[in-house]
Amino acid sequence: MICPACGSSNDRVLDSRASSDGFEIRRRRECTECNYRFSTIERIEGLVPKVVKKDGTKQAYNETKILNSLMVACSKRPVTEEEMQAIVSAITDEVNNNPKREISSHKIGEYIMEQLYVKDKVAYVRFASVYKDFTNPESFAEEVKKISGETL
Ligand SMILES: [Zn+2]
Repeated sequence: MICPACGSSNDRVLDSRASSDGFEIRRRRECTECNYRFSTIERIEGLVPKVVKKDGTKQAYNETKILNSLMVACSKRPVTEEEMQAIVSAITDEVNNNPKREISSHKIGEYIMEQLYVKDKVAYVRFASVYKDFTNPESFAEEVKKISGETL
């Protein structure tokens, strides 16, 4: 490893520790030139990012699918494609930062709703109506009531 302080490639490992789930190993290193200490993280390569659904089943993480659902919700609304891309990128970062490369569909849905709530209430309600899978008109009306009083 290259020392981030002096650029030397001579270091020694002080300590190796596996994460509790066993998907990562963190190594504490010390530069033998300048004694600077830093950490490296070792992960399994090639883990396919996955979405964990409510029933516990997993499917491949799909950026396009998320972007498409956003585009439907934001159709003819003042949410730009850049903003939608930013939402998708944030979710992708979240998946990539997870050592198991997993994210729950719940977390994705909540994050999107949080973002849309701030950006555009109409897009929010549209997305929520699909995501929350409203089974009756009352729950939908309730959701709309919750955000009424705020400018649509
Ligand atoms: Zn150094």
